[in-house]
Amino acid sequence: MSLVPELVIAHGTVVNSRLSGAPARQAAHIVVQDGRIAELVDAALPVPAAARTIDARGKLVIPGGIDGHCHVAQVTGRFRTLDDFAITSTAALWGGTTTIIDFGIPRDAQETPLDAVLNKKRLAAESRCDVALHGSVISWDETVPWQLEQLAAEGVRSVKMYTTNRGTTMADGDTILKVMREMVRLDGLTYIHAEHDAIISDCTEQHAADGLISIEHLHRTRPELAEEVSVKETLALAKYTGAPVYFVHQSTPGAVDLVTEARADGQEAYSETCPHYLTLDDTVYGTEFPEWYACCPPMRSPETVAALKERLAAGAIHTVSSDHSCYDLSQKRERTDDIRFMPHGLPGVETRMPVTFTALVTESGGSVEDFVEVFSAGPARINAVPRKGTIAEGFDADLVIFDPAEERKVDGGALHMGTDFSPFEGKALNGWPAVVVSAGRVVLDGEGFHDPGPVGRYVARNGFTAHRDALSTVSA
Ligand SMILES: [Zn+2]
Repeated sequence: MSLVPELVIAHGTVVNSRLSGAPARQAAHIVVQDGRIAELVDAALPVPAAARTIDARGKLVIPGGIDGHCHVAQVTGRFRTLDDFAITSTAALWGGTTTIIDFGIPRDAQETPLDAVLNKKRLAAESRCDVALHGSVISWDETVPWQLEQLAAEGVRSVKMYTTNRGTTMADGDTILKVMREMVRLDGLTYIHAEHDAIISDCTEQHAADGLISIEHLHRTRPELAEEVSVKETLALAKYTGAPVYFVHQSTPGAVDLVTEARADGQEAYSETCPHYLTLDDTVYGTEFPEWYACCPPMRSPETVAALKERLAAGAIHTVSSDHSCYDLSQKRERTDDIRFMPHGLPGVETRMPVTFTALVTESGGSVEDFVEVFSAGPARINAVPRKGTIAEGFDADLVIFDPAEERKVDGGALHMGTDFSPFEGKALNGWPAVVVSAGRVVLDGEGFHDPGPVGRYVARNGFTAHRDALSTVSA
């Protein structure tokens, strides 16, 4: 342990989630030593000595973001996302996110779930920020329970399955049920991409037969009903097996309400949405560049977006993750005539903070504490990531300093993700990080980005209920 603390963030207003157990708001000096938060000192007291002091007077200091849903170097069919861990983690830090959770998804039937995760773990050695991983199972066989045990031993406590994408990533009902049961045994969490495959397939075929299959029609081929029916079916499987379940990228208020009802009924169910579902609506498919918005689920109607934002402001949505998927416009433009051959997914790890802050705080009247919950604290707690998501003694020194009044316009060309556009191009947003501290290192400040090199650590996660129960007894 070094004698003098490496860093003090002085005179800032420290904001935590109200669900974190730590004080929601306090004026304090944050003392950083050996990459952790050593102490919070009342701001009325003198600033402790340190190798470096950053004055955060008049600014907010929040825990670094945890992005629970990133796809790095993902291969889906014949497409591969264009970034690697060095690029994604750099962009994440620019955007105030200090931990990313990526997925080890088998690229085909030959790659096992365990191999997919171990491969990602190797690649993650290049990361600039901390990294955790989710697993994924596509089809059940007798080796899956053993593989899931190995994943749990690696600190991978969540497994994602898709109810659609027949022939690539889709898992059938038997597989989902059996994996849920294993995840209960291993104290893990089941992640679900919920869209009803038969409805999506039929609706897509119908549109193709009518010649309405180009990108302009994407939203019509994947109706809200398909998402909600799949959420309903999955909740039934989760209830039957007793499995905690987490729905990625919920895009409709109906889907969120199903989760709310299940929770009222005693189920452990969680709702995630993404910045784009809170901000962009299906009129984007009628604009000059509809290919910028090719993702699944697609953007919904303006009424749906407004209602989804209301759910977020009401606290019904637990996390906002980016679903970061870096394709560039040349990939997006190859087959805009047929959405079945387009790469779906949007770049967003760098813009998650300002887009979410603007949707929740600036436009919906949510508090900064609410924002911290969906941006940092909730993702850390629900994903059982130790020592993250809260500014308190003993936690990792992952910190973001910002002025919520500062407004900037998105300039896709000036961002740092491995692509050449942003779906949020030209939007005026609040909530841009000014200073970012990752594991005690100042990686972003007024002088720009300071590349720390491949220092990101692989973070093993705790058991789902063990972590939750431990937090209920420890507040700091
Ligand atoms: Zn995804």
